[in-house]
Amino acid sequence: KPAEIPTLPPGVADHLAGEGIEELYPPQAEAVEAGLTAGESLVASVPTASGKTLIAELAMLSAIERGGTALYIVPLRALASEKKTEFERWADEGFSVGVSTGNYDASGEWLASRDIIVATSEKVDSLIRNNAPWIDDLSCVVADEVHLVDDTNRGPTLEVTLAKLRRINPELQTVALSATVGNAGEIADWLDAELVQSDWRPIDLRMGVHYGDAVNFDDGSQREVSAAGSQRQTEALVDDTLSEGGSTLVFVNSRRNAESAAERQAGVVESHLTGEERADLRELASEIRQVSDTDTSDDLADCVEGGAAFHHAGLAAEHRSLVENAFRDRLLKVICATPTLAAGVNTPSRRVIVRDWRRYDGEFGGMQPLDTLEIHQMCGRAGRPGLDPYGEAVLLAKDSETMDELFERYVWADPDPVQSKLAAEPALRTHLLATISSGFANSREALLEFLDATLYATQTGDEGRLATVTDTVLAYLERNEFIEREDDTIHATNIGHTVSRLYLDPMSAAEIIDGLRYAEENRGTPADTSTVNQQDGDLKRPAADGDEAFVSASELQSNGADDDATAESDSENNEIDDESGGETAQPTPLGLYHLVSRTPDMYELYLKSGDRETYTELCYEHESAFLGRVPSEYEDVAFEDWLAALKTAKLLDDWASEVDEDRITERYGVGPGDIRGKVDTAEWLLGAAEQLAGELGGSSRVAIREAKKRIEYGVREELLDLAGVRNVGRKRARRLYEAGVESRADLRDADKSVVLGALRGREKTAETILENVGRQDPSMDDVTAAETATAAAT
Ligand code: ADP
Repeated sequence: KPAEIPTLPPGVADHLAGEGIEELYPPQAEAVEAGLTAGESLVASVPTASGKTLIAELAMLSAIERGGTALYIVPLRALASEKKTEFERWADEGFSVGVSTGNYDASGEWLASRDIIVATSEKVDSLIRNNAPWIDDLSCVVADEVHLVDDTNRGPTLEVTLAKLRRINPELQTVALSATVGNAGEIADWLDAELVQSDWRPIDLRMGVHYGDAVNFDDGSQREVSAAGSQRQTEALVDDTLSEGGSTLVFVNSRRNAESAAERQAGVVESHLTGEERADLRELASEIRQVSDTDTSDDLADCVEGGAAFHHAGLAAEHRSLVENAFRDRLLKVICATPTLAAGVNTPSRRVIVRDWRRYDGEFGGMQPLDTLEIHQMCGRAGRPGLDPYGEAVLLAKDSETMDELFERYVWADPDPVQSKLAAEPALRTHLLATISSGFANSREALLEFLDATLYATQTGDEGRLATVTDTVLAYLERNEFIEREDDTIHATNIGHTVSRLYLDPMSAAEIIDGLRYAEENRGTPADTSTVNQQDGDLKRPAADGDEAFVSASELQSNGADDDATAESDSENNEIDDESGGETAQPTPLGLYHLVSRTPDMYELYLKSGDRETYTELCYEHESAFLGRVPSEYEDVAFEDWLAALKTAKLLDDWASEVDEDRITERYGVGPGDIRGKVDTAEWLLGAAEQLAGELGGSSRVAIREAKKRIEYGVREELLDLAGVRNVGRKRARRLYEAGVESRADLRDADKSVVLGALRGREKTAETILENVGRQDPSMDDVTAAETATAAAT
């Protein structure tokens, strides 16, 4: 019982009892017995929903009580704020929580005052690179979903981060939480940790496969569920669960499928709803519509009115939490989800249907079966302790061969082992530079010794492979002048340090540096109309240093790319536009957006059918804007990549040209969450490019800064000043501008009724904005009723 653990801080046991947690689940009790609350390192490999979070909390709270702070590492940014909210319930007992998200180049000093810090492994890695002082105070680190060390993209970062934290503080308590995996013992060996491994679940789980007219369960039982007529299997199963008053979580393999499935399930659910539920759902739908003004928002609201919802990473965070809460409150009966986020969120459900067990794989091509571990994590969401008699997870088969395969592959299968992916070039490229730059190692020998403390080395005992890749990577870093080697010692160059602190993949940095150099070298002779001397740095220099005051680089040049790719302007005109680089020696926003979009740090948009033609045309139209040589069409892969980057660049350019969010989602086939993601990444990469340009001594800094500001606010250049005022934003800035209020200065002097009119009569908003811009007397009380009426009508 929590109350009997002597090492727990006072108040914690009572708090838990207040939540109805009087007894520990068996794996939790085992962890405590192994020394969890006394500072022992521990690996807990237990099924989904068996109380891993409490294991983490018990460790963190008692570690804090002994002195020091705790760090909780989440696998996805989107999960960080959810964990923070969860931990905030300890505020009553005096524990404070901070979440570190946002860009990768700050040291986050304010976090030093928090007891528990939640962050992604990428963020922690970057904080180590930036010497965040509070890292030294850590006494406990928790790695959530540690089985993701197996992930090619993100695994190595988690692995290296844990190795570094443990090197900084050899006494650090390390708690690693894992789904059931085949080789948790190896992870425990690596982390010198105790191992708790268990199959225990708080509620029974039955797994089965639906085929024909029945679900065949692993215990040999059957449940008749016939997909009568044209009714699909999923609909039939949802209908069946509803008839017993249960809810269903349906996992599918793409966002589009999640949306279309939710729409269909809403049709099934609707007939089961009571009048009261309908009213509550209508209310929820209108809350959803208010979150954002997009098709996704509307589509979601439409489904929700029918009692079903979709859930995927393209949703805004507010959307997600509205959906999750309503599902937990049993108002929503069905969620159709992609597994990425739903696997990490606590949304148990009576029945789980894994509709798609294969997904498209770009690397291997075609549809590939999911890992056993992934499927088991989805299935683990079945059954709500205390509410359902048991949970049911159902896979779908169209024929008996598939049914047999599903039983073999997933139902009877033992969990897969996880395997470190560290010994790959892209991973080591970034981590070796960081390790050198932050002083963890200054020779090849020391690097190899550091790598010896990783899971890879523990698992394989194969130093040869690590040494080979290390040599390849060191050669790459040296060739690109990120490191220098003298005899046995290696150190980072200035640029190398910058790249590491900026958290850039060295390959991204190399691409950006090449692009900036290309721009410097390829400045054509100034166009005849230009009166600005391209060498005249004086015009730009003051602006580059001041934060607020800035001279618009574009004021010196003609407009950047057009709002619309198919704009009427003829191509000759366009070329002159883009040739502005030649006129004023400055890269254009589109050119810069393309540059950052072709780095490996920007995950790209795929070309869909028809895109190749569209973007090939656009590519030639804007050829002079690019910061780099356009690959020939015969270089198939390179050209394709170039076009994909152009598609992303065009999305960014649309955003920075005030194109409606809705139009962007439609034009590029993305969700509002994706636009946000691309915009954030572009802002970070352009910030990095700005610093690199400063260090290279080129003159593109102002242009980069402006392109970045335009991305940050999503506005054309003339609105940059206004859109920077808090609470203004891109749409309001445009309306103010159209009403003749063109700058902050204008806003301070403007006629209040004009401001009110531009803000559609919203008095409170108008007052807040005027206050934010520093107006002496922001009150709208002195605007006459007649003026308000006119304002509201405008
Ligand atoms: P996991 O992280 O393993 O997937 P969670 O930590 O989210 O699982 O736990 C699932 C649910 O179980 C949570 O709602 C949590 O409050 C509850 N829970 C955890 N431990 C206990 C316990 N000892 N007694 C009762 N409920 C518990």
